[in-house]
Amino acid sequence: MIATEFVSTPHPAPLAERERIEILKEPGFGRHFTDHMFVMRWQAGRGWHDAEIKQRQAFSIDPANAILHYGQEIFEGLKAYKTTDSRIFLFRPEQNAQRFAESATRMAMPALPTELFVRAIEALVTADRNWVPSGDGSLYIRPFMFADDVFLGVRPARAYTFCIIASPAGPYFKGGSKAVKVWVEDTYTRAGYGGTGAAKCGGNYAASLAAQAKAIEHDCDQVIFLDAAERRWIEELGGMNVFFVTNDGGLITPPVDGTILRGITRDSILTLARQAGRRIEERKIAFDEFRDGVRDNRIVECFACGTAAAVAGIGRICRGEGDFVIGSGSTGPVTEELRNQLVAIQRGHAPDENGWRHEVSGG
Ligand SMILES: *Cc1c(COP(=O)(O)O)cnc(C)c1O
Repeated sequence: MIATEFVSTPHPAPLAERERIEILKEPGFGRHFTDHMFVMRWQAGRGWHDAEIKQRQAFSIDPANAILHYGQEIFEGLKAYKTTDSRIFLFRPEQNAQRFAESATRMAMPALPTELFVRAIEALVTADRNWVPSGDGSLYIRPFMFADDVFLGVRPARAYTFCIIASPAGPYFKGGSKAVKVWVEDTYTRAGYGGTGAAKCGGNYAASLAAQAKAIEHDCDQVIFLDAAERRWIEELGGMNVFFVTNDGGLITPPVDGTILRGITRDSILTLARQAGRRIEERKIAFDEFRDGVRDNRIVECFACGTAAAVAGIGRICRGEGDFVIGSGSTGPVTEELRNQLVAIQRGHAPDENGWRHEVSGG
């Protein structure tokens, strides 16, 4: 007998204001969600239609839905920040729109016009404006699109759902700005040339989880992936790009050449560092060069960056052959400076000389 009692129907009623404030004090990451969601459908021959903002609720999915079998899915991640005078800013949302369109093309999905993507985010943030934490917190916004077509043949779906949900967020890593420990993965890789490494798709994350589990087993927080062909070149972390700081204050970061994600945080840090007169090298860096550079004091800091964590110092590296510490093992001064500069712009505490802040009017 099928126990229907096991089926639960989520119905998140809007929370009382008092409870909501409690959540906003310490939201964690990805655990609580706002009241609303944005949903829009696409069908071959019809295009985008039925856009709506409605109460956040579960989808009903047919067991033969293509998404459950072949994983045609892409997503984005960006944040809304609330200033002390209650203005709400997004950070470079057009960049997320553009990357979403590129991911869609790679996964044989329909593109969404930039203007529509940004307007949908603004509409959701406006509806859920009371959920945007102030202070150190932010509202994490998750746009995503998935095949929504009932068939088992292997071909691109003929119908898709685009959705945006949002979640109040505190600091990403437990322990705040403490430097993290990362595991260098020798067996599993996340992307090869011609693969999907440059697309932000759920499948890349599914493929990274076994390595992430190994990292946790070795008491590490995150994984550094090496290239698929030679296991020689450093690519990126599971969900963040990686930077190395040289002893003259310069930066080295792997190039965006098809196997890594083109991070918007990565691009923002490169721009800020260039404007500050730092030497920038976007080039392949071998793990051996990194290890020897740390030993010989040519590489003095290392950090990871992405929307969720902003900038996270990397203090210790673990690989089969042994561990090593970078610099003092804590977040270095250049990392700290870049992080503070970026976060100040995102939160409206510093002038926005590059036009990166996008105010949610009516927010
Ligand atoms: C999202 C993501 C990043 C970071 O991109 P941002 O635009 O800076 O948030 C880096 N690597 C991977 C694999 C990602 O999915």
